[in-house]
Amino acid sequence: MSHEPSERCDIAVVGGGILGLAVARELALRNPAASICVLEREPRLASHQTGHNSGVIHAGVYYTPGSLKAQLCVEGARAMYEFCEQHGIPHERCGKVIIATGDSELGRLDELERRGRANGVAGLRRIDAGGIRELEPHARGVAGLYSPATGIADFGAVALALADELQQAGGTIATGCEVLGVAAAGRSLRLSHSRGTTEAGHAVFCAGAWADRLAVAAGAGPDPRIVPFRGAYLRLAPARRDLVRSLIYPVPDPSLPFLGVHLTRHIDGEVLVGPTALMVAARDAYALRTVRRRDLAQTLAWPGTWRMLAHWWRTGVTELRHAALRSSFVRAAARYVPELEPQDVEPSFAGIRAQALGRDGRLVDDFVFSHTERALHVRNAPSPAATSSLAIARYVADEAQRAFGETVRHV
Ligand SMILES: Cc1cc2nc3c(=O)[nH]c(=O)nc-3n(C[C@H](O)[C@H](O)[C@H](O)COP(=O)(O)OP(=O)(O)OC[C@H]3O[C@@H](n4cnc5c(N)ncnc54)[C@H](O)[C@@H]3O)c2cc1C
Repeated sequence: MSHEPSERCDIAVVGGGILGLAVARELALRNPAASICVLEREPRLASHQTGHNSGVIHAGVYYTPGSLKAQLCVEGARAMYEFCEQHGIPHERCGKVIIATGDSELGRLDELERRGRANGVAGLRRIDAGGIRELEPHARGVAGLYSPATGIADFGAVALALADELQQAGGTIATGCEVLGVAAAGRSLRLSHSRGTTEAGHAVFCAGAWADRLAVAAGAGPDPRIVPFRGAYLRLAPARRDLVRSLIYPVPDPSLPFLGVHLTRHIDGEVLVGPTALMVAARDAYALRTVRRRDLAQTLAWPGTWRMLAHWWRTGVTELRHAALRSSFVRAAARYVPELEPQDVEPSFAGIRAQALGRDGRLVDDFVFSHTERALHVRNAPSPAATSSLAIARYVADEAQRAFGETVRHV
């Protein structure tokens, strides 16, 4: 249900994706006397990354031990399973295999195993070629890593359940309300938006693909910039869904924040193949032809873009090939499911990753949070941020208590 945007509130949360809603709910539960409003630019909640992803509850295998991703993913996966159980949201702890297709990938598989164990991922197990076939009869590889704690859920449904709880706790949600400007107004912030203005004691920005723009509007520096990467999926034709029992992943390139083309069973029974990772010309380029002049200009004017392209152009060409040629895309997945043929797949949806890119050309791997006067900003929350959302919400609420302490207590 959409409310009128509040003219005044104690804390405004900008963004009605899974993070904004989880943060707003956490703040509302911790501060029952505070007035909390969510402002979302689209007519519907969860319209962007939250509603367009692989739907995987990651267990925490990949991430550098000690990083925010490692800590918040492991904690967040536990919280996500619990939340889904408590709220009757369909989910399944179906397990996943990461497959090395040749000896050259074994060193990287060792490193993933080391990371997973250091991160405390439960039940992680090394398997051989026979073990892969036992778990996934149509998959092939020389060795694998099995993570029984990995699962699937519908993150869009989680977001809507979070919105319900927020509203039950007294919070409000205004959709169709795009925040356009942020200005200091005495002891508060004035958020100007497409439905008027909201004066908020404090604000938390969880704006996904638009995070950098709002942070800069609130007085933060431009680094890192968000660059949109489109992730397109294919899906297996219903008659070929038996090629995949649960989740099959390749060994990823450790220097890229993307996990490679994988095969994932969804909670509705569909099996997705993807996603690609193609830099695009709009932050909402769900259709490849969508070009937004402002988005494109900001991507091209960013020195990091050119540094990244100089380093990763070969990967870029491969991704372009995957995007243009179904056969090339399918071939990437057929490395570990050899029976897969181009006629076994159909086109499916695409999602746009909000990926932070440093001025130095580095694709920022870890989650990034920052402050400006009276505001907190989520500046980089790519995968596994949906898995981690409840843990991120606790982390951000702790930060809010430190940064907004007096107001959070007195409201
Ligand atoms: C292809 C793909 C696959 C993925 N797979 C997985 C996975 O399997 N597991 C996993 O854990 N994670 C996965 N992720 C990552 C995950 O989806 C995101 O990390 C997560 O959804 C981020 O949530 P969010 O709320 O920050 O972003 P979003 O869902 O993008 O929400 C941001 C919201 O802010 C709103 N907004 C922006 N600007 C404004 C403004 N000016 N005013 C008001 N509102 C504004 C937007 O409309 C949007 O609703 C994947 C992502 C993609 C794209």
